Amino acid sequence: MAQKSSQAIVLQTTDYAEWDRIASLYTQDFGRIRGIAKSAKRSQKRFGSTLEPFSHVKVFFVTREHQGLIRLERCEIVRAFPEIARDLKKMAYGHYILELVQMLTPERQQCRDIFSLMLFFIELLCENNFREDMMRIFELRLFALLGYQPQFLSCVACGGTFSLSESYRFSVKHGGIVCSRCQSKLHDLLPLSKGSIRIFQQVQNLDLSKLNRIFLSPATHEEGKLIFGKFLEYHIGRRPKSLSIIDQLR
Ligand SMILES: [Zn+2]
Repeated sequence: MAQKSSQAIVLQTTDYAEWDRIASLYTQDFGRIRGIAKSAKRSQKRFGSTLEPFSHVKVFFVTREHQGLIRLERCEIVRAFPEIARDLKKMAYGHYILELVQMLTPERQQCRDIFSLMLFFIELLCENNFREDMMRIFELRLFALLGYQPQFLSCVACGGTFSLSESYRFSVKHGGIVCSRCQSKLHDLLPLSKGSIRIFQQVQNLDLSKLNRIFLSPATHEEGKLIFGKFLEYHIGRRPKSLSIIDQLR
């Protein structure tokens, strides 16, 4: 048995048996883990309210080789985000962030950048000037970290470099832009303006700390919402549940 610890963000927690809880966390050092917190409902000392979704914690746990469920020993709060629970909209967007990471990341595969990306966007969510278009930026950056970054720099059919004198559409299946010469060869293409393509190129290149400086116009936001939504469904085979809640709030 090995004792380990890491900073983590709590993705979801469910009650288990009479006194236990099962929690899913995205850790900085071990990727996504799922563990059982024995007597968490009884022992305030070891867990308190640290296992609530969104909590940024330091988790201490024990792993056994070849065994799925980890044993969570205790948790310390690094930062709670009470602002999220006070606002229905923030709550819905926050759950969307957690759901995407829960659905799209493999268990126990470290990616520090995914941890940093989540933390950065959860912190942004808590600010007063949080905007919905930031969710599109989160999606795009997450796609890249998961290894399926959409191609905005060249046509996915002929490889021709992006040019302002060309016009483009987007292929969900091929994961990128398609120039006018290649559009008749492919099906199910979605509209995408050159202005949006240039913004998405910037989103892919910028340092994480500067992403909050990018503003998507309403038109770019709508194009991104449609394209990334379909792209996500194509890769995971269904629509995230939290998106339906966001739609109802709108
Ligand atoms: Zn082409």
